[in-house]
Amino acid sequence: MNKIEHIGIAVNDLTQACSVYEKLFDTVCYKIEAVASEGVNTAFLKVGVNKIELLASTADESPIAKFLTKKGEGIHHIAFDVDDIYAEMKRLKAEGFTLLNDEPKKGADNKLICFVHPKEANGVLIELCQEIK
Ligand code: ZN
Repeated sequence: MNKIEHIGIAVNDLTQACSVYEKLFDTVCYKIEAVASEGVNTAFLKVGVNKIELLASTADESPIAKFLTKKGEGIHHIAFDVDDIYAEMKRLKAEGFTLLNDEPKKGADNKLICFVHPKEANGVLIELCQEIK
């Protein structure tokens, strides 16, 4: 794994959260993208070399909706950039981690993604992401 690619924050209202985070970081949301398969609407901000992904639910049964109901707004996941998501998934499976999807999925921001179950990562939801070339 190379570096933190972004930090995902679950929010109730994307428009409201964008305006808060734009003020907080003195920047602008540079991309808003819906990921229909995940039932989310995402917004991205850059803070120096770092990236923040705001996630709001667009479907009652989406993972983000469930997270918000259970835990409320806050940090949802930490995403790590990888060169070869298939190799990382294979390695993590062999190490006994539970992956939330068997095959990489198409995520927001032109990425192949896979989530690692938080139960084996001390409560932190880890996302692997590989840029689609
Ligand atoms: Zn993410």
